Amino acid sequence: MIAGYEVQNIRSDARGQMDLEHLQTLVTEDVAALMITNPSTLGTFEPRIAEVSELLHERGALLYMDGANMNALAGVARPGDFGVDVMHLNLHKTFSTPHGGGGPGAGPVLVKKELEAFLPVPVLVERDGRFALETHRPKSIGRVRAFVGNFGVLVRALAYTLAYGPGMRQATEDAVVNANYIRKLLEDVFDLPYSSPSMHEVVFSDERQKKFGVNTMDIAKRLIDYGFHPYTTAFPLIVPGALMIEPTESESKEECDLFIDAMRSIAEEAATQPELVKTAPHSTRVGRLDEVGAARRPVLRWKPKLPAKAAD
Ligand SMILES: *Cc1c(COP(=O)(O)O)cnc(C)c1O
Repeated sequence: MIAGYEVQNIRSDARGQMDLEHLQTLVTEDVAALMITNPSTLGTFEPRIAEVSELLHERGALLYMDGANMNALAGVARPGDFGVDVMHLNLHKTFSTPHGGGGPGAGPVLVKKELEAFLPVPVLVERDGRFALETHRPKSIGRVRAFVGNFGVLVRALAYTLAYGPGMRQATEDAVVNANYIRKLLEDVFDLPYSSPSMHEVVFSDERQKKFGVNTMDIAKRLIDYGFHPYTTAFPLIVPGALMIEPTESESKEECDLFIDAMRSIAEEAATQPELVKTAPHSTRVGRLDEVGAARRPVLRWKPKLPAKAAD
C-alpha cells in the first residue's frame, strides 16, 4: 500500500509488449496512475503507447514513464507527445553522469504544465531577469528533503546536454544502430526470445548455451578475459538467462566488431570446451567475487590484522 493505493502489475504479451487487454480490465476510475518503462527493458518501443495513455486519461489516471531508456529517444521523440504526464530522467544513464560504484545518481522529475502547481517547493523562478526561490505555492505537495538534489551531477548532465545540442539526435541514432548491428551479427549464435524491433539495447538469452551447462553469468565472466566489461545478466526479469547488451552511442564500429568477435568466440567455446567458460575469468587477479556478500556486508575500512599474540 502506498498512500492508500495498491500496486498491480500489468502482464506483457507474447511480443514482450504491454498486454492492453489486461490493462483494460484493471483501469477503473479508482486507478491513480500507470508506470511504464518505454522503451521497455527488452529494448523495444511500446507501439500502442498512445492508446495506453488515452485509456488512462479517459478514466482520470496519469501516465508515469521511467526514463531509464531515454538513450533510445533523446532528441528524437518527446514522451509528452505520446501522452506521458510525469517522468524522470536517469541522468546517470543517458546523460553521461557517473553510474558505477553506486552513484551518486540523480533523477529529476519532469511534469506536464497541469501538474506544475503540485511540484515540491521551493521552485526556482525567474523574475525581472533574476532567479529566486518561490516557496508559497498553495497546491504544492510541500518540501521534500534535499531539494537541491545532487547538484554537481545535475550540472554535469546539463553541460553534456548543452554540448551536444541538436547532436543529441545523432547520439540516439548511433546507440540504436549499434544495438541493431550487434543483434544482426549475433542472432545466429544466441537465442533471441523476443523478435520485436530493438531500440538501443538487444536482449538475448542463454537458451542455446544452456545445453552445454553454460549460462549467461559464465559468458559474462568469460567476456572479462576478452577485455570487455560484461553486459547485464539479471534483467529483464521476463527473460530467464538474459544477455542484455546496451552498447550506447559511445562505441565505435571497430569496438562493436571486437565485441561481436568475442561473443562469437565464446559461443564456440561454450559448445566445444564449456569448462573454460564455466570457470572464467582466467586472466584476472581475483576470480568470481561474492557480489551479493559485498553489497550486503560491505567492508569499507581497512583495519590492520594484529598477530594473534598481540591480542592476548
Ligand atoms: C536502470 C533502471 C532502473 C534503476 O535505475 P537507477 O536510477 O539506476 O536506480 C530502474 N528501472 C529500469 C527500467 C532501469 O533500466
